[in-house]
Amino acid sequence: MLPVDKKDGMTTLPPKIKKQVLLENMNINGGINRCVNYNIEAIRPNKHERGITATANEIHMDHIISQNKGEKGTITNAQIICRTCNLNKSYNK
Ligand SMILES: [Zn+2]
Repeated sequence: MLPVDKKDGMTTLPPKIKKQVLLENMNINGGINRCVNYNIEAIRPNKHERGITATANEIHMDHIISQNKGEKGTITNAQIICRTCNLNKSYNK
């Protein structure tokens, strides 16, 4: 599992790159963010609070190529997936 930024629940990427990925995804999808796997609308996560389960379709940032394989967080290596996909994704070592 990739490290998650506690502030916004998204995978730790430089804020500039996060913004760019969100924007590009929105442009492709006519103004909303969509999970690249299931094409469902992905929503900005609320601040995580104890005892409240995060929404299944909140936005998670994903590295297309795992950081373990040497790729750093760059715009071309980031994509938007929903929380469900992120939790289900298995990272091959
Ligand atoms: Zn998804």
